[in-house]
Amino acid sequence: MLVDIWSSFFKKPVTQRYPFERLEAPEQFRGRLVWDPSKCNGCCLCIKDCPANALELITIDKKAKQFVMRYHADRCTYCSQCVQSCRSECLRMAHDQWEPASLSRHDFVVDYGNEADIAHILEKYGTPSARATAAKTSE
Ligand code: SF4
Ligand code: SF4
Repeated sequence: MLVDIWSSFFKKPVTQRYPFERLEAPEQFRGRLVWDPSKCNGCCLCIKDCPANALELITIDKKAKQFVMRYHADRCTYCSQCVQSCRSECLRMAHDQWEPASLSRHDFVVDYGNEADIAHILEKYGTPSARATAAKTSE
């Protein structure tokens, strides 16, 4: 045992000095879900198949294929079922987005879509934190 202790003084640690050093996650790593609106047809298969109720598709204009995808990363189990279910290949799990830590749960709600559509949705329904505050004050 003493030999092991002594020799360890001269060995480089195998652990990473996170957060000062970051390793790249492998390509197949399931990080945060990312949505590409350009091919989305609003079929909602991803929402129906999500076992964690982590997705919402907010329709602005179905004919014009204008949607906002609201992703609740705090509910997501990173199972990738939605990616498998989407026949239009709109969804992927970003292998380089794997540090979702935050002090507030509201930071885990992500709205995807074009800026004007997101602004319209936020104006209509409010931000998740504003809704939570409103719910608390009405109790
Ligand atoms: S990865 Fe799984 S839990 Fe997360 S949004 Fe997709 S289906 Fe839902
Ligand atoms: S399954 Fe794909 S095409 Fe259908 S609503 Fe979800 S992201 Fe859009």
